Amino acid sequence: MKIGFIGVGNMGNPMATNLIKAGHQLTVHDIRQEAATNLLEMGANWADSPKATVPGNEVVFTSLPMPRHVEAVVLGENGILEGAKRGSIYVDLSTNSPTVIRRIHQTCAEKGVIVLDAPVSGGVYGAAAGTLAVMVGGDEKVFRRIKPALDAIGGHVVYCGPIGNGMVCKICNNLLSMGTGVLLAEALTLGVKAGVDLATLADVIANSSGGCKRITEKFPRYLFKGNFQPGFATSLAAKDVRLATDLGREYGMPMELSNMVDQRHVEALHRGWGDLDSDAVAQIQEEKAGVQLRLPV
Ligand code: NAD
Repeated sequence: MKIGFIGVGNMGNPMATNLIKAGHQLTVHDIRQEAATNLLEMGANWADSPKATVPGNEVVFTSLPMPRHVEAVVLGENGILEGAKRGSIYVDLSTNSPTVIRRIHQTCAEKGVIVLDAPVSGGVYGAAAGTLAVMVGGDEKVFRRIKPALDAIGGHVVYCGPIGNGMVCKICNNLLSMGTGVLLAEALTLGVKAGVDLATLADVIANSSGGCKRITEKFPRYLFKGNFQPGFATSLAAKDVRLATDLGREYGMPMELSNMVDQRHVEALHRGWGDLDSDAVAQIQEEKAGVQLRLPV
């Protein structure tokens, strides 16, 4: 397929790489052209604006940090919508607000432009390996048409229902991932303080009912190594938890614990850790407990 791709950062770059490797022809754009160097070397074309990624392509993808970036890139000056015509397809791979993507969908529909949401999970390792979970919302027939491209970036591509449903799935997932991170930091600092070494404790939990990907994959790659190079930036993790608590408010849901997780991420942002990997949030518990969760490299 001929594909436009906007936002080639930590996630977008490996996803775009896998699309090229699968034989798709890419036109890429990012506010930092240098982020696309490897893709241009692999044969991708460069576009100077989001608008310029659209003509001649069957689908345009975005992988952008925040909902406001997605809105600007789609609906703003020189945005995707300006370059689109009736029948053009646009797919958001970012983790975005369901409400924002539903609004974008509505605005684009007025011009006959089709919008799907397809947020991804699996981190930079999953993006590089092409094994991401992809959660798709929108018109199912259009989903079937573009699925070959999604199969190049993901190993578990799931149709979740109407527009915004992919984002709902992704936000619920990330709320759990971030909440688990906070609770795990408490459990692990407790266990170490009470006399068990971290390697034993982590191994036992990983193979017991408290086991989860956070302890088997994420913490070993980041927190346990003291490696806070993102990865998945704390600013993005905080955004995802806030998307969940905002959605809770929108639907009148009781979410006491989620709001505590939200505030823990706000504290990390106030400490200036927004650009560090999201495992940095565990350092707040480490500090309070007087226990560092590190394993020999
Ligand atoms: P990133 O900051 O590494 O990449 C974002 C890219 O978008 C950057 O290259 C940036 O220059 C570009 N960009 C920003 N504003 C732009 C604009 N107006 N026009 C064009 N380009 C612009 O972020 P990331 O980690 O790749 O995350 C991207 C999205 O994927 C986010 O929504 C994030 O929540 C989600 N996500 C991230 C991970 C992860 O592990 N990093 C995993 C799953 C989902």
